[in-house]
Amino acid sequence: MNHNIIFKIFKEIEISINNEKEIIERLDQEIGDGDHIFNLQRGLKECLVAEDELKNCNIPEIFKKLGLKIMTNVGGSSGALYSTLLLNMSKNFEPTLNDKNNLIEMFHAGVMAMKKIGRSDLGEKTMLDVLIPVSLFLKENIHYDSSKLSKLSKEVAYKGMLATKDLIATKGRASYLGKRSKGHIDPGAKSSQVAINAICDFILNYNKEKV
Ligand code: ADP
Ligand code: MG
Repeated sequence: MNHNIIFKIFKEIEISINNEKEIIERLDQEIGDGDHIFNLQRGLKECLVAEDELKNCNIPEIFKKLGLKIMTNVGGSSGALYSTLLLNMSKNFEPTLNDKNNLIEMFHAGVMAMKKIGRSDLGEKTMLDVLIPVSLFLKENIHYDSSKLSKLSKEVAYKGMLATKDLIATKGRASYLGKRSKGHIDPGAKSSQVAINAICDFILNYNKEKV
């Protein structure tokens, strides 16, 4: 893990989110206020333009500064939640661990902090229905190699995203719809699944190029 790799991954996330922008926008129009794609694009742009500025920062500093940029520049629940994720990943960086174990622990701590700030948990029809299962899967299977973890995490994320369709939202704007939120995939669950997919594909390609 280094500056170059972190920014390459953010670029891959941006490409994937842009490829899925119509569907993400439509989902938030159906059960939210339609701005989710805009918040994501704004956040990713804020992160990507910081590439040169953060060149001499160490890894926890990079995560911290990106989290602060999202906090100050991105609106909506997703802005607050994703800045919480990055800030808490930064706080839980542990230099003695290898990249795989470190990232799994950092991500898990970040997702736990999102639960806390969002006062939400699994089954409430939010992005956490993707992020919690993925972080638990990674913790439980930390001994798998990173290719296997990436391949399987994509499936866990996809399943979590699809499962939001049958749920009734109890957090966020979609909760105002009550039972009428049922039958729609949560926009935040969709975008986080797309982001996880992009990260996992990056790792899979990276490992392939190494051998
Ligand atoms: P807003 O809902 O404020 O317009 P966004 O449209 O950017 O913000 O993000 C909406 C997404 O945020 C939802 O689809 C859901 O996944 C997530 N979300 C909203 N509230 C919460 C919460 N309390 N906990 C976890 N996730 C939430
Ligand atoms: Mg919205």
